[in-house]
Amino acid sequence: MVVERLGPPLEEPVFDALAIIGVGLIGSSIARAARKRGAARRIILTDRAPETLERAKALGLGDALARDLAEAVRDADCVILCAPVGANEAIGRAIAPALKPNAIVTDVGSVKGAVVSTLEPLLPKHARLVPGHPVAGTEQSGPDAGFASLFVNRWCILTPPEGTDPDAVEAMRRFWEALGSHVETMSAAHHDLVLAITSHVPHLIAYNIVGTAADLEDATRSEVIKFSAGGFRDFTRIAASDPTMWRDVFLYNKEAVLEMLGRFTEDLTALQRMIRRDDGDGLFALFTRTRAIRLSIVAQGQETAAPDFGRRAVEDERAP
Ligand code: NAP
Repeated sequence: MVVERLGPPLEEPVFDALAIIGVGLIGSSIARAARKRGAARRIILTDRAPETLERAKALGLGDALARDLAEAVRDADCVILCAPVGANEAIGRAIAPALKPNAIVTDVGSVKGAVVSTLEPLLPKHARLVPGHPVAGTEQSGPDAGFASLFVNRWCILTPPEGTDPDAVEAMRRFWEALGSHVETMSAAHHDLVLAITSHVPHLIAYNIVGTAADLEDATRSEVIKFSAGGFRDFTRIAASDPTMWRDVFLYNKEAVLEMLGRFTEDLTALQRMIRRDDGDGLFALFTRTRAIRLSIVAQGQETAAPDFGRRAVEDERAP
């Protein structure tokens, strides 16, 4: 089991007031981590669902809850959008008139080009847009699923549009570093291409293989569940990811996903041919290359070599 821990509280917070919109897995993890590290003096939470806010209150997350988006962001130095990407346009319209001068508007969406093109025209000139993507998560959703160490030793990618105030980018870098992340800056288009192959297409493959199994006849399907340890189980973990979030990822990163899917399909056809032609050497060479990739991910600390797939949160890290 990998237990990643946050460092001690900062001497000075990065932000006075931080507003988090959407208190799900990512929003609630940011609220927990920012409080533990003292990255913001005051944390204001808002969500479209009153039940989610009630739950956030019961969990003791944040310092204040706002039922209204404008009210949530009015005093904020930094506003983080943590709802599914498809909700950004409505959120952007609602917060724009209430943002204070120099407020940083950022997000955590898994696609970046669409976030820039949606938010940039909506926000007032006096706000500073620094889109971000913490490359960290689990297949779970909602405020109960979050934990403070989610971002520790994970990458956070910032994709500021050209001309963004460097001070705003620097503040976001310090914020994510406070939460334990490594930070890298790149263009939104490059982010979307890289994430298409490292995250989006793998999710699509998982959705597809689990969907295929679900469509099998009853007798075979029950055996798929019974004997699922052989690889299928790991796909089901990914395929259990939030349907709204992933629908939006594919709708908003369409071009890059289709490009990578084209390459994937060509390679799959080549594999099919190797099997048909009994090309054991070809199969062995590919599987040796892919094993080396797994080992280098483990060597870089981005995965554990333990046979139990994935990270486990320790219970005390779910505390606010
Ligand atoms: P989540 O657990 O489902 O949380 C999303 C929250 O946003 C929910 O509480 C949802 O409310 C709320 N919401 C939806 N529409 C809203 C609106 N219009 N205004 C205010 N709140 C709204 O999802 P998540 O996993 O935290 O994902 C949030 C974002 O993080 C997504 O953009 C995703 O791409 C990104 N991300 C996710 C992961 C991951 O592994 N999960 C990793 C990195 C980045 P309801 O409960 O009413 O739906």
